[in-house]
Amino acid sequence: MQASYDVVIIGGGIAGVSAALSCRSRGKSVAVIANGEETSSLYKAERIANYPGIPAASGKEICAVLSAQLAESGAELVRGRALSVTPIGAGFGVAVGSEFCGCAAVILAAGITREKLYPGEGEFLGRGVSYCATCDGMLYRGKTVAVVGGGEEAARDADFLESIGCTVLRFPQTARYEIRGGMKADTLVAGGEEHKVDGVFVIKDTVSVTRLVPGLAYENGGIVTDRMMRTSVPGVFAAGDCTGKPYQLAKAAGEGNVAALSACEYIDKKNK
Ligand SMILES: Cc1cc2nc3c(=O)[nH]c(=O)nc-3n(C[C@H](O)[C@H](O)[C@H](O)COP(=O)(O)OP(=O)(O)OC[C@H]3O[C@@H](n4cnc5c(N)ncnc54)[C@H](O)[C@@H]3O)c2cc1C
Repeated sequence: MQASYDVVIIGGGIAGVSAALSCRSRGKSVAVIANGEETSSLYKAERIANYPGIPAASGKEICAVLSAQLAESGAELVRGRALSVTPIGAGFGVAVGSEFCGCAAVILAAGITREKLYPGEGEFLGRGVSYCATCDGMLYRGKTVAVVGGGEEAARDADFLESIGCTVLRFPQTARYEIRGGMKADTLVAGGEEHKVDGVFVIKDTVSVTRLVPGLAYENGGIVTDRMMRTSVPGVFAAGDCTGKPYQLAKAAGEGNVAALSACEYIDKKNK
């Protein structure tokens, strides 16, 4: 995929879907990059009774309605994990695995990333630590790599790395890890035991938003925005739990709407 859109939305929870519907109603082309819906907070909620217009329902039931609305809206759903947002020309390039989506504006609707980096993960990112087997696997052909992650994606990536000739050491995401090295990462410490490796693939559902978008202001557990859901990076907007408390559906949906209208206005002004 090497497609271009007016708006790319990262996250397919209620904030992302709300933003997509409003962008579509303003006639914009939209891609929603989203992990599986089971990763959203809403999916995990047993019973939602305080969302206006919908009688008490389970999170899964509301997710099903949102999926159907998104499918009908004409927004493109790209299943996968957004890895980075890079300024390119007058817009942005969003990497999803080894693919790329171009766009004029980005809306971050990634929910809460409870992600804590492993010691050494940030320090060696790009120097022996990777988040993407498809992108970087070939660099480790014939070498030994660790894959840290418990989900299906981690298992798929580990299989892929083996298929291209890597020796793969698999580690669940739940244990304590530390990545050590010199110029490059060369050791994974797992439960106190040292494993010599040439690279470490850390495969999580989410990437912290500050790593997704370099230079993004982040405070008290949320992306800093103004009332129009503009972030500190021009052309990047944010909505939902990723902007901070309160973590509530109605707030997430409302912010998705405002972020969408602001993104559309931003694009229209640039196109004048
Ligand atoms: C158990 C529970 C009960 C709750 N009960 C209520 C309630 O009764 N009432 C209420 O109002 N609220 C309730 N909430 C809170 C509510 O569910 C959240 O506020 C709301 O769902 C947040 O929506 P969101 O779109 O911001 O984030 P999310 O629903 O978390 O969606 C974000 C999505 O983005 C995906 N994502 C993140 N990073 C990336 C990436 N790099 N690439 C691709 N996709 C990515 C995530 O995997 C996730 O699917 C509850 C939450 C929980 C967990």
